[in-house]
Amino acid sequence: MRRVSEHLSEILSRLTPLTPVRLPLLEAAGTVLAEPVTAPVDLPPFDNSAMDGYAVRAADLGALPAVLPVTGDVAAGDLGRAEIPPGRAVRIMTGAPLPPGADTVIPVEWTDGGAEVVRITRGAPEGNYIRRAGEDVRAGAVVLPAGTRLGAAQLGMAAAVGYPDLPVRPRPRVAVLSTGDELRDPGDTLEHGQIWDSNSFMLATAVREAGGEPLRQSFLGDDPKTVREALQEELAHADAIITTGGVSMGVYDVVKAAFSGGGEVDFHKVAMRPGKPQGFGLLDGRCPIFTLPGNPVSAYVSFQVFVLPALRYLQGLEPEGLPSVTARCASTLTSPSGLQHYLRAELTFTDDAYTVRPASAQGSHQMAALAGANGLIVIPPDVTEVPEGAFVEVLRLPS
Ligand code: AMP
Ligand code: MG
Repeated sequence: MRRVSEHLSEILSRLTPLTPVRLPLLEAAGTVLAEPVTAPVDLPPFDNSAMDGYAVRAADLGALPAVLPVTGDVAAGDLGRAEIPPGRAVRIMTGAPLPPGADTVIPVEWTDGGAEVVRITRGAPEGNYIRRAGEDVRAGAVVLPAGTRLGAAQLGMAAAVGYPDLPVRPRPRVAVLSTGDELRDPGDTLEHGQIWDSNSFMLATAVREAGGEPLRQSFLGDDPKTVREALQEELAHADAIITTGGVSMGVYDVVKAAFSGGGEVDFHKVAMRPGKPQGFGLLDGRCPIFTLPGNPVSAYVSFQVFVLPALRYLQGLEPEGLPSVTARCASTLTSPSGLQHYLRAELTFTDDAYTVRPASAQGSHQMAALAGANGLIVIPPDVTEVPEGAFVEVLRLPS
C-alpha cells in the first residue's frame, strides 16, 4: 500500500500548470496571475486634495483667523491647471488636483465655508491634507506578484493602475463523471436498487470551490466501452477529469476494466480511510484523470486530499491541501493501524481554543455526517488511539 503523501507526490510530479491567457478584469476574478503586474504610472497620478476644503499657500495664513478671497472651485475630475494667486484661496474637493502654487489644504471644518471670502480659524503646515503623486505606488513598481489569486482588492489594484485585462492561468475545466448502473439523476423516479447520483453534484461543487470550472456530465453505467468513449469525448475540452466508482475489488469495477489494457491509469491502494482505492494517470499523455472511489464520503475526502492540491497546482498556486488547525479532541478515538484516518467532525472555537467532536457516523456511505461536518480529523497511520483531551490536526472544510 502507498502512503497518502507518496500518492500525492506522484500526482503532482506529473502535472504542468495551465498555459496563461489574457482575460478581461471581471472574467479574471478568482484566477491566478501568471506574470507580475507593474504600475505604468504613479498612483495617485497627481498631487490632490485628501479633504473637501480650501487650497492655499501656507505662508498666506499668518495670524489667525485668516481671511482670504476665494478665486474659484476645483472639483475631482477638473482638468484646469490655473495657478492660485498669492493671498487667495481656491475651494477644493476630495480627489481634485492641487492647483499650482497651493501647498496646503485647509479642511472646510476649520473655516466658515465661505464661497467668495473664506475665514480660516485653524492653520496647518505645508503639505497638510495633500495626497502626493506616487505616495501609494511608484511608476515601475510591482503591485501584484505572479501567483497572486485575484480577489476583490487585487482586481481593484490592477484597475487602479489602468489594466483592462490581465495575464492569468485560466480556471481548470474539470469534467466530472459518475459511474454505476444503479445511478439516476435527482428528480428521476427510483426503482428498488437504484440511488440518485450525488457524487457528480458534490464534486462539481468542490471543483468550483477549488477555483476550477466544473463540467458535470450525466452518470455513466457500468459498461467499460461506454466509459472509454465518454472519457475520449471529454478530452476535447477538459483540462482534468474526475470519475467516481468502479475502482475497488468487485467484479463490475468498470473504470478499472476500462483501463485494463494498462499504462494510462495506475490503480493503487492508498493507506487511508476512507478512500483506499485510487487511480491516477494522464490521458493522451496530457490530461490528468483522477479515478476516485464511489462511496460519496470516500470520493469527497479523496478530492480534498489529492485533487484540490492538483487543481491548485494547475492554476499556478502552491499545491496545498485544506488549511488545518490543532484542536483538543472531545472524546477518545481509536484508529486502524497503518491507515491515515480522516474522521468527519465538528470544530468549534471557544475560550481561545479549538475543540473537535467526531461525528458518530463514520461510514464512507454516510453523507449526513459529512454534510454536517466542518472539519476532518487527521489521525496518522501509526496512531491507533487518541485519548480524550489530546490535541489532533483538523482540516477545515470549505464553508
Ligand atoms: P463502487 O466503487 O462503484 O462499487 O461504488 C461504491 C458505493 O458507492 C456503492 O454503494 C455505490 O452505489 C455508491 N456510489 C457510487 N457512485 C455513486 C454516486 N455517483 N452517487 C452516490 N453513490 C454512489
Ligand atoms: Mg459502481
